[in-house]
Amino acid sequence: AKAPRGFGAGRERVAEEFVRPSADDPRAVRTVGVIGGGTAGYLTALALRAKRPWLDVTLVESSTVPIIGVGEATVPLMVTFLHSYLGIDPQDFYREVQPTWKLGIKFNWGPDPEGFMAPFDWGVNSVGVLGSLAERGNINAFTLQSLMMMGNRTPVFGPAGEPISLMKYLSFAYHLDNERFVRYLTGLARARGVGHLDAKIADVVPSGPDWIDHLVTTDGQRLDFDFYVDCSGFRSLMLGKALNTRFHSYSGSLFTDSAVTGNIPHGGLLKPYTSATTMDAGWCWNIPTRESDHLGYVYSSAALSDEEAADELARRFPGITPPRFVRFRVGRHESAWRGNMMAIGNSYGFVEPLESSGLLMITQGILALVRAMPASWADPVGRDVVNSVLGMKWDEIRWFLSVHYRFNTRLDTPFWREARERTDVSGLQPLLDVYAAGAPLRLRDRLTQLHLSLTAPTFYGLEGIDCVLLGQKVPTRLLRSAEPIERWRERKAAADVLVRKALPQAEALALFDAEPRLHDELVKDRDGWVARSAPTL
Ligand code: FAD
Repeated sequence: AKAPRGFGAGRERVAEEFVRPSADDPRAVRTVGVIGGGTAGYLTALALRAKRPWLDVTLVESSTVPIIGVGEATVPLMVTFLHSYLGIDPQDFYREVQPTWKLGIKFNWGPDPEGFMAPFDWGVNSVGVLGSLAERGNINAFTLQSLMMMGNRTPVFGPAGEPISLMKYLSFAYHLDNERFVRYLTGLARARGVGHLDAKIADVVPSGPDWIDHLVTTDGQRLDFDFYVDCSGFRSLMLGKALNTRFHSYSGSLFTDSAVTGNIPHGGLLKPYTSATTMDAGWCWNIPTRESDHLGYVYSSAALSDEEAADELARRFPGITPPRFVRFRVGRHESAWRGNMMAIGNSYGFVEPLESSGLLMITQGILALVRAMPASWADPVGRDVVNSVLGMKWDEIRWFLSVHYRFNTRLDTPFWREARERTDVSGLQPLLDVYAAGAPLRLRDRLTQLHLSLTAPTFYGLEGIDCVLLGQKVPTRLLRSAEPIERWRERKAAADVLVRKALPQAEALALFDAEPRLHDELVKDRDGWVARSAPTL
């Protein structure tokens, strides 16, 4: 007999749960106050309006309290979040924000003078990590994107005839100029119906240990909302100050607490990656924007004064603009969501930007909030679920970053000697033991991988850890490859041909800007990775 239409596995699905509260529910959640107008605040407000359009969302920010405002490197999730989840028009976005493309991070780190590449296609291993180690003594020829990064190319081909782009098949992220990005989000939020109030919060009035009753501004206004989102940055007005939530410091693993930033001209060479370069008491990012390279030396104030840090940066990068200093603290609060308030962004947690995790964790917080926010306080509330998942993710990032410090042998300064001796990597110790006995971990047997997923879950997967440990040449017994090296050479030769023909980023972006349909194609084509992947927690 013929099976009924649609009969088969996986047909049953759950309906979208974002339910509008009933009109007569006295405990309905109808109004939301987002406090803070940095990237966390604007992205949260836009997401709530996009997914729960009946909510009355007001963003409160103070023009007297500046946003963090540093240039930002992101990860591929941001591309899907902006275009697929928030539905941001690619042509508008490229015109107004003028992002550059990031294929991964180049670490000037570890003993190899070439450093190591952490490309976004690290999970694909398209050329082969074992072959690269055997042939070149490092991992850098293990994927197509890694080779593109080394060759300073992007996977776009032209200009004769129709340009051909492989960008839509290879994950990439954006480098964003923070000021332009926030300005764009501000305009978009107004256009999409987010209310706006320029006011400084003077007082947060709780009712009971967990609940926010109302806010009071310095000019005496009383603000009442059904739900509050604390996006006030490091000030953490509600979660930290008013509700006094415990803070878990990560300073046992991450010793830096300061950054000094500036710009230098790049002479038109737009590197298709973020760089992270070892410095005497920390490291320096280089985020290429259209106009210049944006640099930031992340250091420990216990090891270096602000003046010494600025001097070292200026010596290393002559011609840099006058220094701007930023202080931060690393760690997270015990929970993000208490009562009728959730914190997103630096108000909840922060780690230094070595793996571009700031905006990544902001989007994770937003996805969790949008999914779990109740329509009514009479409904069950998923606070514990959100708090445990987000807390675990932050901790996994802490451990991932810790191995960058513990094993970096590039410099022999007091800071790095101490980092190698004292960095707490205990959260990954079971994984490090397994790694010592055989790597790459991604090619280990299923039993071993299961053990790792239970004892040392990692945020960026085994591919990410492999990249960082093999890239830094942390001792291991390499697994034996089952294929003849000629196969690897063939793949490498094919990738080399593509790299030779590919365009440098400045030329590729110029082609895209001249033909804006290419921006659409990049994020809307149904066979491309952006349109096919929904941003997930
Ligand atoms: P902020 O930008 O600080 O915004 C806080 C907002 O709260 C402001 O609008 C302010 O007006 C408002 N506010 C504060 N107090 C009051 C008050 N009393 N009343 C009313 N309003 C108030 N992330 C990445 O993803 N990639 C990177 O490369 C990266 N680099 C970084 C480098 C450094 C040195 C630092 C410190 C951070 C970096 N980050 C990076 C993280 C990133 O900058 C932040 O996570 C992101 O910008 C979000 O900040 P925010 O919105 O939480 O806070």
